[in-house]
Amino acid sequence: MIDNHIAALLAFAGRLDSRVRRALADPQQSARTIADWTAALADVPTTLPDTGWDASQAVRRYYEQRAGDRSAQFRPVEPHDVLAAWAPHRAELMNRHTDPIPEADPDDPHAWRKELLGTRAAVAHGHTPPAQYRAEINAAGQKRLAAMVSGVGRGSRRYMPTEIAEQLAAFRPTRAAREAAVAAGQPDAYAHTCTWCGAAPEEPCRTGYRRNGKGQAQRSTPHPCRTDTAVRAEDEHDRLAHLMSTLPAPRESRARHTTGGQHR
Ligand SMILES: [Zn+2]
Repeated sequence: MIDNHIAALLAFAGRLDSRVRRALADPQQSARTIADWTAALADVPTTLPDTGWDASQAVRRYYEQRAGDRSAQFRPVEPHDVLAAWAPHRAELMNRHTDPIPEADPDDPHAWRKELLGTRAAVAHGHTPPAQYRAEINAAGQKRLAAMVSGVGRGSRRYMPTEIAEQLAAFRPTRAAREAAVAAGQPDAYAHTCTWCGAAPEEPCRTGYRRNGKGQAQRSTPHPCRTDTAVRAEDEHDRLAHLMSTLPAPRESRARHTTGGQHR
C-alpha cells in the first residue's frame, strides 16, 4: 500500500474509532502515523479480488471484536492487526502458485535465482496473480505428458529420441505398433496381462497355443481381449480422475421444517 492508500485506510479507521480520529487531527502526528503505517504495510496490497482481500475489511473486523477478542476496547487498530489478517491471504496465493521457468540464462544462477524470487515476491505481494500451470493441464494433457516423460510402458524407462525410434521401427514392429497406439491416444494394451495367451505385462502376445510355449511365434499386435482390458482400465482411471477433479456440488439449501415435518 502506498501512502495515499494508507491515508484513506486511516480515515476509514477514524470513522470507527475516535482515538484514531483524534490522532489524525494533529497534522504532525497524522503525517508520522501515515509514514509508520506505509513502512509497515508496504508489502500488503489494498485490495485483491482473487482471494477477497480488502485492507479496510481487515480494519473493520478488528473493531468487530470477533471470537471474544476485546483488544479494540483497549487500543486502536495497529499495522500488525492488518498484517495478521493479510497472512492467510498471502499463504493462499502462494499455495496456488507454481514457479514459472525464469527467462534468465540458466548458466547464470544469480540472475536465475533473482528472477525466481522476484516472481514469487510479486505473487506474495499481490502484484501479479499466481501462475497456475497444474490447473491448466487437463486430464488428456496429463496423459500425453506422462507418456512423453516416462517413455511407454513400465520397463526400463529409457528415453529414445523420436527420429531414432522411427528408424528402428522396421526392426521392432511390436514396439512401433505400441508406440503408435499410445501416441494416437489409445490405451496401452501391453501394460496388462493378456487373458487369451497369458502374456505377462510388457511381453508381446503369442500365436497359437502349445504347452511349454514351444513353437509359438510373437504377434506384432496384442490380442483384442488385451486391448479391451486396457480400455476398461483407462475408463476406470478416467472416471476416478474425473471424480477427483470435480468439486463437490454445493448443497441445496432447503427450508428446514423444525416442527410438524414428516420424514419421507
Ligand atoms: Zn495375447
